Amino acid sequence: MNELEEMMNRRILIVDDNGDIHGDYQCALNYESDEDPLGELEAALFGEERSAKPCGPRFELVHAHQGQEGVDLLQREAERGRPFSLAFVDMRMPPGWDGLRTIREAWRVDPQLQVVLCTAFSDYSWEQILAATTPGDRLLILKKPFDAVEIRQLALSLTTKWNLGRAADRSQKELESAIEQRTAELRLAKETADRASRSKSEFLANVSHEIRTPLTAIIGFTKLLIDGFDRLSPEERLHYLEIVQSSAEHQLAIINDLLDLSKAEAGRLQIHRAECCPRRIVDETIKTLGRLAAEKKLSLESIWLGRAPESICTDAARLRQLLINLVGNAIKFTSSGGVQVVGQMLEGGGRARLKLDVVDTGIGISAEQQQTIFDPFVQADSSITRQYGGTGLGLAISRSIAQALGGELTVTSRLGAGSTFSAVVDAENPTVDPPTQTSENAPPGLAADLSAASLASRRILVVEDNPFNRKLIKLSLERLGAEIELAENGQAGVDRALAGAFDLILLDMQMPVMDGLTAVKLLREKKYRQPIVALTAHALDEERDRCLAAGCTDFLTKPIDLDHLAAVVGKLLAQPHSAPCRGAESQPAPNACELEESDEFAQLAKEYAASLSEVASRARQAAAERDLACLAAIGHNLKGSGGTFGFAELTEIGGRLERLGAGQEFARVAKVLDELSDIVERLAPGVGLR
Ligand code: ADP
Repeated sequence: MNELEEMMNRRILIVDDNGDIHGDYQCALNYESDEDPLGELEAALFGEERSAKPCGPRFELVHAHQGQEGVDLLQREAERGRPFSLAFVDMRMPPGWDGLRTIREAWRVDPQLQVVLCTAFSDYSWEQILAATTPGDRLLILKKPFDAVEIRQLALSLTTKWNLGRAADRSQKELESAIEQRTAELRLAKETADRASRSKSEFLANVSHEIRTPLTAIIGFTKLLIDGFDRLSPEERLHYLEIVQSSAEHQLAIINDLLDLSKAEAGRLQIHRAECCPRRIVDETIKTLGRLAAEKKLSLESIWLGRAPESICTDAARLRQLLINLVGNAIKFTSSGGVQVVGQMLEGGGRARLKLDVVDTGIGISAEQQQTIFDPFVQADSSITRQYGGTGLGLAISRSIAQALGGELTVTSRLGAGSTFSAVVDAENPTVDPPTQTSENAPPGLAADLSAASLASRRILVVEDNPFNRKLIKLSLERLGAEIELAENGQAGVDRALAGAFDLILLDMQMPVMDGLTAVKLLREKKYRQPIVALTAHALDEERDRCLAAGCTDFLTKPIDLDHLAAVVGKLLAQPHSAPCRGAESQPAPNACELEESDEFAQLAKEYAASLSEVASRARQAAAERDLACLAAIGHNLKGSGGTFGFAELTEIGGRLERLGAGQEFARVAKVLDELSDIVERLAPGVGLR
């Protein structure tokens, strides 16, 4: 019997008042054949009784002697999930229902039931029977007396018909439910698409408003300037230009957000993990946004629950971007009270994670709005947020960043009672990027892990044009036991390197006379084999690739983090190829934090700050001569040295000056120089600038 046959329901109900007939049905339907020669032989051999084999499919017969009894049985079995597929019903069954009534009642229970009405035909005419049992496609009439083969044929084909009917019903139902489900899915997809299209339209309206607002200012004030250039006082002109500048910068920020979002949506958000100090990221964020908070008379502070970690492994720049978004929002949506950043390390689950909560006392977000604010293009309440500006991109980008850093960004908030945004990111990850260092990802305290012997008596050549950077690097590496020699440009560096036995060279990339790239290529051509570490104020990946391709062993970005510098130098000198040029002696290794607290460092920083007035006047001179290349070089130098001495704002303004110089944007130079003068005045009190 095949699988299909096994699944067939061959249950047959026999309804007949004559007991003998039930036996006839049994014999006709489940007859057994004795045509089995092998069986016969087997029985003869072993002296067993020969058993007949059942022939064809087996039918399960259930018997009733009255119509009502039969229909009750039908009902009960249907309820038990064991329906009959066929009933043989006698026409005359006194004293109860006759065959026709029985059939009608039976079809009420199972309209699919196949029925054979057994009749002598003389009781009713065919027309009468048809009229009483419409529709007639489930009924056959079997004329008495029966023929056994005829009964078997009827049983086989009618039970099969019932089963096929059931199967057709089932597949129709499955088909209907699949169609229903698919229709529901399509409806949902359409609703989602409609919503997305609505959000995008709202977003486009928003972005267009955001871009148009500053554009109006840019166009308007430029026109005022052009039309009234001769009439306007220099102060008015400067004021108008400042408006144009800040409007353009605002636009740039929006465009950067859009680019970030499109990268995040395409899963192309670049993540560069490295060791970094989360405390520093928090402090710098607070420093950056401090003025904004102060303008609104809000407090802005950070606390750490437990010990703040010295260093974790994550993408510092992305973490900083995330935190700036959250703290920026918190300040934006708070009018009294303040904002607090709460940091803590979460242990458990076998991995360390960093949690940063940004808590504000601002307008809060309703439960309903919390469901959507992380979606791109969504603002909680456009009527409220219109007054605050923004595009609804910040949180979408921030959440993507948190997820890309192995964590999540969530919010708890109550309308009118403030909000807490919690960012959790993975704090350690075995895949650490090669040591590209920025001011943010430099790990304090790493130098303390260095073996004291690693730098003792190692000879290092520092090639750097900025005298303060030169001195500072010398100071910091000498404290770790290294012997330092200095060169102030690429040419001098190459000459010294080839003349003396150095274990390692620290090589600035942008220098007068000969730049670092030319110097490293020259040294490698002359088979110089010791490690050469590039120092550069350009933090781009391409710059790093260029340095490594030219022959540098490693790459450090300015401003120089002294701990990271020591760690990288120590690591390179500890490698087997780097045997000391002279014997090494062990001595304790102070870390850079100690150096930064030392008198020598303070003295050097003071000298550096004092030298800035001269730098500022050189810059003014260059501006007066419209020497943009010189301005770019001064900016580059400030960018590379300021942060090294702890003056992050100098690095920032240096970067701006460099960009303006390189981009030939002379119009904005005056303002940047004014800002530079302010900073210099603050850093070096009493030192005149002009
Ligand atoms: P944007 O600030 O540019 O509108 P975001 O994606 O950063 O975009 O924020 C989305 C929305 O979430 C904001 O428009 C604001 O309605 C709500 N929101 C975000 N941060 C806060 C907060 N700290 N307090 C109240 N509402 C907030």
